[in-house]
Amino acid sequence: MNEFEVIREFFARQPVVRSDVVLGIGDDAALLNVPAGQELVVSTDLLVGDVHFSEDTDADAVGHKALAVNLSDLAAMGATPAWFTLNLSMPSVEVKWMEGFCRGLYALADRYQVALVGGDTTRGPLTLGIQIMGFAPAGTALRRSTARVGDRIYVTGQIGDAALGLRLLQGGLQIPEAFRASMLARLHRPEPRIDAGLKLRGLATSCIDLSDGLAADLGHILEASGIGARLDLERLPRSPAYASVFDVVGWEPALAGGDDYELCFTAPAAREPELQKMFASLGLACSAVGEIEAQPGLRIFDQAGKRYTPAKAGYDHFRRV
Ligand code: ADP
Ligand code: MG
Repeated sequence: MNEFEVIREFFARQPVVRSDVVLGIGDDAALLNVPAGQELVVSTDLLVGDVHFSEDTDADAVGHKALAVNLSDLAAMGATPAWFTLNLSMPSVEVKWMEGFCRGLYALADRYQVALVGGDTTRGPLTLGIQIMGFAPAGTALRRSTARVGDRIYVTGQIGDAALGLRLLQGGLQIPEAFRASMLARLHRPEPRIDAGLKLRGLATSCIDLSDGLAADLGHILEASGIGARLDLERLPRSPAYASVFDVVGWEPALAGGDDYELCFTAPAAREPELQKMFASLGLACSAVGEIEAQPGLRIFDQAGKRYTPAKAGYDHFRRV
């Protein structure tokens, strides 16, 4: 297949039709209609073969995750997703791989009604770049820089399982058979918390999605907001799967493991009842894990009330080892 056949076969027809796409794939650029009164929210994430996923990962899962991590960024902004573009480089056209990739990609696109409106396709090492676009009513998007002293810190869902899934694949961990599938699912098929992000507009004071581990990502909120926090380890929401290996792995996967794609946000303590009601209606867990304090820095405490220092910080692509 040549470049144009690839575009025609896999990208020109995609499942989502939106009336705000004036002109989609096929011209030099797309024409998109941003509704009046809304701000355009734009984010991009790059997935590199053998860095972000091993090249033997199921293509369907790669398609899902490439879009899911981008949707997760919009969730953290409290934005409604609308469109995306796809930049794809690959060494050769493997039709079976492309079919699987598109299946995973389009199934998720269909669920959130995000339309693929353009992209670029070249030969090169396997690399996937998605740019996602969405909207939020002007002035309402959630930010990292607006947490306030006295706010509680919350985490959605459960954290740490994706990092354990990765360690399972790397062969370094004995995990009971019954829990393997759920850990691998958390690694390969993260669920973007779009609905939660939308409902947190006007409720949360700040928000970030967890891609590099709670300690590092909460650290970004603290730094951007110019404040500090205390975090209580025993309040971190862990799954039964995690609990089954906790004696071996301790707190590190929940604190410093990446790929959770849950939301970490802050909200005034007085809004807790409203917050819990909202999360109950979504069928999603939401746990208070700490408090924002005036003193800069992140202070972590264990069950005994003793200060805890994480063994490793979050993932940094350019860190020297
Ligand atoms: P140009 O030469 O103007 O850059 P291309 O030949 O690269 O155009 O692409 C033709 C059309 O196909 C454009 O509308 C482009 O957005 C779309 N396209 C190319 N690659 C992809 C892709 N991977 N996913 C979605 N759309 C794509
Ligand atoms: Mg081009």
